[in-house]
Amino acid sequence: MSRHYDFVVIGGGSGGIAAANRAASYGVGVVLIEGGRLGGTCVNVGCVPKKIMWNAAHLQHRLSQAWASGTHVGGNRVDWTALVSAREAYIRRLNGIYAGKLDSNGVERVEGYARFVDARTVEVNGEHISGTHVLIATGSHPVRPDVPGAELGIDSDGFFALTEQPRRVVVAGSGYIAVELAGVLRALGSEVTLLLRGERVLSGFDAMLGDELMIAMRAEGIDVITRAQTAAVERQADGLSLTLADGRKLAHFDHLIWAVGRRPNTQGLAVENAGLALSPQGHIHVDAFQSTGAPGVYAVGDVTAAPALTPVAIAAGRRLADRLFGGQPDRCLQIDLVPTVVFSHPPIGTVGLSEAQARHRHEDVKVYQARFTPLVDALAPHPGKTAMKLITAGPDELVVGCHIIGEGADEMLQGFAVAMQMGATKRDFDDTLAIHPTSAEELVTLR
Ligand SMILES: Cc1cc2nc3c(=O)[nH]c(=O)nc-3n(C[C@H](O)[C@H](O)[C@H](O)COP(=O)(O)OP(=O)(O)OC[C@H]3O[C@@H](n4cnc5c(N)ncnc54)[C@H](O)[C@@H]3O)c2cc1C
Repeated sequence: MSRHYDFVVIGGGSGGIAAANRAASYGVGVVLIEGGRLGGTCVNVGCVPKKIMWNAAHLQHRLSQAWASGTHVGGNRVDWTALVSAREAYIRRLNGIYAGKLDSNGVERVEGYARFVDARTVEVNGEHISGTHVLIATGSHPVRPDVPGAELGIDSDGFFALTEQPRRVVVAGSGYIAVELAGVLRALGSEVTLLLRGERVLSGFDAMLGDELMIAMRAEGIDVITRAQTAAVERQADGLSLTLADGRKLAHFDHLIWAVGRRPNTQGLAVENAGLALSPQGHIHVDAFQSTGAPGVYAVGDVTAAPALTPVAIAAGRRLADRLFGGQPDRCLQIDLVPTVVFSHPPIGTVGLSEAQARHRHEDVKVYQARFTPLVDALAPHPGKTAMKLITAGPDELVVGCHIIGEGADEMLQGFAVAMQMGATKRDFDDTLAIHPTSAEELVTLR
């Protein structure tokens, strides 16, 4: 048996669903093939469950400071099992909403894993499905290091499967997923050790953000261990023990969470049958129009080397559908400015160039910075800090980087990203009236 469609979409995550729905809105025949749960990483084991855990953790953090404002709350204990069960019920509702929207848009759904037979044909559950255009939106998966006992640890998927709160956890990794999981666990009451291979967290970001976050994490009681490369993991009677490459030993952990990177999902796809080559990291090469080089075959999202973020995958998928079916031949995704938030404690909002990148690319760079105690923490015995940095380039002082760490940074950034997208200069920031008293006003009063 075989079927033919205008558009075959492999993968029902952020990018695939966005592309399929947009294509269907133009009246073409679309099929979406998904082997797991609809919604992909973001909905099931990424952004959504992470933010729900972060919200609970943030609430705990604020409650722990409430007495300083004269508010007495008692017994702030997290019922982890109830939290996880409510979170999963919410995600199941989302899975249903995604399915309903695809159905109402006329997108056909096939459950199963696709494998290329040739460039325009895939096999799913023994059936051949062909398309005039085929999109690969298969996402990525977490990896573990190649050390003895690595299988004794879990990854971010395993974190979301925990139905009981771990008492003592070690998180290995320095990227945004590592610091987010470490922060959530600590704020919810676990003892947390964070193992960094180097000296600093968030090495791809402006250095101020990693430095400030490490101060905040240590102040919250996270044991941050630098230059710590895990060489072996063993299960002992009293929990997991780790031996580091330099001989140091760490022990008594309920769980080890690996947050050491992700790899594109191309295994089992047989991309060679479509004539595609992969990068050494396993990414599918695409041009600015998401074209792979094989005529009629495209890729979006984490399976490519684009920034691994949901809005990037969605924007790429929608623009591709606009181009292929919506009569917009030049439509493509420009990835110059990617605003993003790290849901650490405190959160980070960042867009544009880091100071190091700006100095590398531009001659005339100016940096404006502030570090202060936000009013929300004014009465707290151990107040957190907020730090901000604006980076400008050229004689007109075009704002090329905006970096914030502190309470509210997560909700602060989006509007500033719009201003930068429109080409705002430092003068535009200065000429904007402040909103007082807020933390955000510091960004328009920097000297
Ligand atoms: C812990 C964590 C937290 C995150 N937090 C954020 C955040 O706060 N903000 C943010 O923007 N991003 C976040 N991300 C990243 C975000 O989830 C991804 O960038 C996004 O989901 C990528 O979308 P995608 O469509 O490329 O892939 P996915 O959403 O992963 O979807 C791919 C889908 O393809 C399916 N699939 C794979 N192979 C096949 C096959 N052969 N046949 C059929 N189906 C297949 C998979 O089952 C999956 O459902 C987070 C990720 C993680 C892991």
